Order: sequence, then C-alpha cells, then structure tokens
Amino acid sequence: MIDLHTHTFLSDGVLGPAELAQRASVAGYHALGMTDHVDGGTLEPTLTTLQRACESLCGHLPLAIIAGVEITHVPPDAIAQTVIKARDLGTNLIVMHGESPVEPVAKGTNRAAIEADIDLLAHPGLIDRAMVVRAVERGIYLELSARAGHSLGNGRLVALAREVGALNYLVVSSDAHGPDDLLTSSFRRTVCLCAGLSDKETDLVERNACALLKKVIR
Ligand SMILES: [Zn+2]
Ligand SMILES: [Zn+2]
Repeated sequence: MIDLHTHTFLSDGVLGPAELAQRASVAGYHALGMTDHVDGGTLEPTLTTLQRACESLCGHLPLAIIAGVEITHVPPDAIAQTVIKARDLGTNLIVMHGESPVEPVAKGTNRAAIEADIDLLAHPGLIDRAMVVRAVERGIYLELSARAGHSLGNGRLVALAREVGALNYLVVSSDAHGPDDLLTSSFRRTVCLCAGLSDKETDLVERNACALLKKVIR
C-alpha cells in the first residue's frame, strides 16, 4: 500500500514520525509520505525536522518513508514561491491543501497550485473541468480523499476525470491524522467504489499510486 499524504504531531497529527512509520509498517504499507501542514513561516522548521526523522528511520523499517509537506492555506499568490522554497529545501513530495468543501480555503488555491510545481493536489473540492485538464497537462496528481468531509468532493472529481481522460492521475490517500486513519486495502477500494469508480478503474487508481511514488523517489 502506498499513501503519500499523512500528518504527524509536527502539525496537527497525533503521532510522532517514528510511531506513524511503525504503525504504517505494521498496517502493511510499502510507502508512506509524511506531509505535515506548512505555510511560508513553518515550512523550513517542519520540513527539516521531518527530513531528519525520516533519515533516522531509513533502513530500519521495511517501507519507503518520504518527508514531504502539505502547503496549507497559503494565499494563492504566494503558493508558487512557497513551492519553490520547498523544492530548494530538498523535498520531492509537495502536496497542496486544495479547495476542500468543508474549509474556507481561498478561492484560486486549486488554480495556483496546479500552475506551481506540486506533486499532488489534495481534496480539490469544487474543482472545475478546465483545472482537471490543466492538472493532467502539468503531470499533477489529484487526490481522492479517504478523510471525512474532504471526501465529499470525490464523486465530482471522478466524474470530471472520466470525462476528460484523467483517471490516470487519480490517487487515494488517507490524510491520516491519527493511527485509526491509516488505510487498509479494503477501505481504499471502498473509497474508490463509493466515488463511482468501477472495479477495473479502482485497480488503475492503485497503479497510479505506484507511478506517483516513482516520481517522488526519483
Ligand atoms: Zn489538506
Ligand atoms: Zn492533509
């Protein structure tokens, strides 16, 4: 199992990086991305701490652990520079906290994120058709969220992705903030099927996660 969007207590998760990694390992994960919430001010201390934590775990657990960030509630016109700074700090996993239907994320966030050098747009909510097309052009993956609330937009995203031929860019992530949020294979499939994907398309979405992981561990 590959899950590239989770949180530790370096933002609003409840577990430290080592415990999250251990629990993910026991849950059968093959790859875990730790992507704590950051903004322009918290980016550097949070990411560098996560990077140190991941380095200290490297080789001790049977899964790939990737230190990333979830850029969160940064004003749209400051997203591009925050992404550049994150890349400069050495991360290959940049998630953007998209325009969730359950939070007052600034309008224009999805657009600004897709035009920046991110890897995954999380819970894009009321994303429109043109933005899905643009994400594909830019090679940016779009998240089907397993998290309550954020997942309200999953059905819309699947419908648009199917319409424009973007199913290859959908991935499921847990957005785990605690141990009970980590994915299981069966729940992952349930998220896909409930969003309107067929069995075959659900298999495709699982393969998409491998493609995204390859990009991230380049
Ligand atoms: Zn988020
Ligand atoms: Zn998140």
